[in-house]
Amino acid sequence: MAPEYVVHYSEVALKGKNRPEFVRALRRNIARSLSGLAPVVELRDGRFVVSASGTAQDAAARLGKTFGVAWFSEVAPVGLDYDGIRRGVLDAARASKGRTFKVETRRSDKGYPLTSRELAVRLGAAVQEETGMKVDLTDPEVVIRVDVTRSNAFVYSNKTPGPGGLPVGTAGRVMHLFSGGIDSPVAAWLLMKRGCVPVYLHFYLAPTPRNALESKVTKQVKALSAYGGKSTLVLVPFAEYQLATADAPGDLEPSLFRRFMRMTAEALAPPFGAAAISTGDSLSQAASQTLWNLASFDHGSTLPILRPLLAYDKDEIISLARRISTYDLSIEEYKDCCAIITRHPRTRVKSALLDDYVRRLELQDLVQEVLRGATLVSYNPVGDVLRCADLADSMPTTRATGPEADL
Ligand code: ATP
Ligand code: MG
Repeated sequence: MAPEYVVHYSEVALKGKNRPEFVRALRRNIARSLSGLAPVVELRDGRFVVSASGTAQDAAARLGKTFGVAWFSEVAPVGLDYDGIRRGVLDAARASKGRTFKVETRRSDKGYPLTSRELAVRLGAAVQEETGMKVDLTDPEVVIRVDVTRSNAFVYSNKTPGPGGLPVGTAGRVMHLFSGGIDSPVAAWLLMKRGCVPVYLHFYLAPTPRNALESKVTKQVKALSAYGGKSTLVLVPFAEYQLATADAPGDLEPSLFRRFMRMTAEALAPPFGAAAISTGDSLSQAASQTLWNLASFDHGSTLPILRPLLAYDKDEIISLARRISTYDLSIEEYKDCCAIITRHPRTRVKSALLDDYVRRLELQDLVQEVLRGATLVSYNPVGDVLRCADLADSMPTTRATGPEADL
């Protein structure tokens, strides 16, 4: 039989009047993450009841990557009659092979003839009598849970944590500066965890878009799409920028380039419906990330700049990168990563100085110039479909910036 799950959400339950919208989004995202497994996702009494074909392991791995899921359990559905529930509980107790247990019951159908407590006491006595297991209410080896809904009951003894957070698509889009390094994929994951859809923006020096496309950057986007679903990546060649800024002072290079990336992200935000820009910056991790340099990066931006990793240590970032399977890709060699290297970068670049170079070097025009050579990559994890086009030929028309764009 197809594995069946109860899937619980926590924070989405707290969203007041917006709650139905969050629940709808979560339902859609659960169905999407289980696509190919003929999923049926039904909202029942404040939790989802989900069935999917394929192995329980596969479905569980996908549910474990769906933001908004607090926890889930593979369940045995049983009828509402006491004998049916009792059989289910005894099966679960025997399968557990534990020595101590407790039964936890929950009724969402308050019309059920037994109270939760009465049901727990009777079932507990039955388990003790039939299996010899001992009741331990404080620290049991096994917790057998019984969830009574209006149409049937669920018995389960496992409880797998989900990734938490909010359903992807409920918080709007962000233009995400994506380097191919360790930090920016983790930052994207954290943004998705809070419901954002990142539009990945990568600047490359490689001679052709094909080089960039075949690099680890695309592999990282694919890995992240296990959490975020369909993904969009814009590949921007910046050789022209390098030529145009060759005479700028060397110690200003990282800050100027970063300002240029921000300006390009700003230019792309309206057509992609993004309401913010995000980066993988962590405070003072590098000279380009001192508080002063972050300020000069932001200066004059028309959009908020989000930095989910600002207060993370590198080892915290690495352990998250390992958990979300981007670390091994991040450490693959990629020439482009070191394209802008300066021996003694300034740690306090004044905003006015950057503004001055932006004007003198006509970087605003250069943004349009590099975008003419950009490539739009769309990736759909359902069917593993990757599509590429020149950005100039397939620029989306300006769209709403609210989360409604993704709902
Ligand atoms: P990461 O591991 O994300 O590369 P990092 O510690 O190497 O970060 P930097 O190279 O200074 O730090 O980059 C800081 C941030 O600037 C990155 O997290 C990313 O958001 C952005 N960034 C840097 N290089 C690029 C690039 N080539 N394309 C797009 N964004 C970039
Ligand atoms: Mg980097």
